[in-house]
Amino acid sequence: MPAAFLVLFYLALTCAPLALAALQGHPPRPLRDELASGVALAGLAILLVEFALSGRFRVISGRIGMDVTMRLHQLLARAASMLILLHPFLYSGPQSLRPGLTAPGSTALNFDWSGLWPGIVAWLLLGAVMVMALGRDGLYRHEIWRALHGIMALVMAGLGVLHATRAGRYSGDPALWGFWWALFAIAVLSLAWVYAVKPLMKARRPWRVGSVTRLADRTWELCLDPEGHKGLHYLPGHFAWISIGKPAVSLNENPFSIASAPAEGGRLRFVIKELGDFTNRLGRVTPGTRAWVDAPFGSLTLKRHRKAGGVAMIAGGVGIAPLLSHLRQLDADDDPRPRVLFYANRAEEQIAYREELHRRGQTGPLRVVHVLSDPPEGWQGETGFVTSEVLTRHLDAEALKSWVFVLCGPPPMLHAVEDALLGLGVSARNILLEQFSYD
Ligand SMILES: Cc1cc2nc3c(=O)[nH]c(=O)nc-3n(C[C@H](O)[C@H](O)[C@H](O)COP(=O)(O)OP(=O)(O)OC[C@H]3O[C@@H](n4cnc5c(N)ncnc54)[C@H](O)[C@@H]3O)c2cc1C
Repeated sequence: MPAAFLVLFYLALTCAPLALAALQGHPPRPLRDELASGVALAGLAILLVEFALSGRFRVISGRIGMDVTMRLHQLLARAASMLILLHPFLYSGPQSLRPGLTAPGSTALNFDWSGLWPGIVAWLLLGAVMVMALGRDGLYRHEIWRALHGIMALVMAGLGVLHATRAGRYSGDPALWGFWWALFAIAVLSLAWVYAVKPLMKARRPWRVGSVTRLADRTWELCLDPEGHKGLHYLPGHFAWISIGKPAVSLNENPFSIASAPAEGGRLRFVIKELGDFTNRLGRVTPGTRAWVDAPFGSLTLKRHRKAGGVAMIAGGVGIAPLLSHLRQLDADDDPRPRVLFYANRAEEQIAYREELHRRGQTGPLRVVHVLSDPPEGWQGETGFVTSEVLTRHLDAEALKSWVFVLCGPPPMLHAVEDALLGLGVSARNILLEQFSYD
């Protein structure tokens, strides 16, 4: 299904409540009251569809990209929150009350308590979810935030639907009533799929830690071996959710790009940088520990770029992981296309897989350009950051026109390189990008 269909489907879903309300043909109310109902209908629809935009559904993130999915999730959540938080203040107030008239279908506000309380609690919960999401880092562990975020969002959505169907002017109508509860059921099922069904499926395909090896400063290679099964079907550029030493059903799973190539067989290799509680403990994980893998995810693959004239890869630090998978698979396939790897690090000792990259550069059509922002004395490679000047020193006009560009690294670097590439005339369609954080 092309991405354009997904966009149309999304618009249809989120606009449907407004259309269903308009079709009911109720007598008109003051503009402010209609606006108040309209923003609530649109806001609730956007909010309910957010459960599908959690990044855990390949049908969506595999098409529009993980970064775009998460960015949309965040931006649309903000838009929906604004609409819903605004909604009670837009009503023209008690003066619009007329005796004897109550929602649904009435021209007056319905102040019946059974419809009001779910709305008030949902409204307060929404404020709390927003504050928690914006200030999530540093306050509590990421896993705790994820669990609270999911549970609170589901309770809030359920109460929001209850409020709409009991107190809303339009939502008591059978068609809209059915629509709301169907969307809510999908939201519940999507969480059940991610946190119950998928883990149970995962439990039938266990993995074991094969090795944990120190690669560079605070950077490790983790190898996982399939246990009693053939492993995973994946493409270079995909990432996996992994958990180690935990039950299959657990909130403790973290996303990591797969650095091995499918051609290597069942073993999966990851390049992992220490950052927080899970990654800091990696050096102490012993071979043989049980692990779980939920994969493949992501859209940093070359499957839509088979005809590209060459491949330019730009990695910042541990962003080398998915690019290694590409390099390894391209070599395994004897792909003759020229390729250049720009590998940016702060210091020389942070360069991972230096020998392997050098060897691939010697034996295949790969050129490796190391870029150090803090180079040692006598450094022969590029210095500073990956700028337009660095790019044009190693890529000619034909490459800028016909190659595919695969970027992975810290968000500020990625955006600077993307801007530089666009400025050099590279088509946005030829730029693939994955960042390791959605903050
Ligand atoms: C698509 C993707 C691919 C990634 N690939 C790699 C890789 O190949 N190598 C690598 O070193 N790092 C990679 N990361 C980053 C890696 O997931 C985090 O560094 C790791 O999860 C941190 O976990 P922690 O418990 O050590 O630290 P924490 O202190 O718990 O988290 C630090 C930060 O990491 C992020 N994070 C933590 N847990 C999760 C989670 N479950 N889901 C999403 N983000 C989380 C959050 O931004 C958090 O603020 C990738 C991230 C994403 C989203």
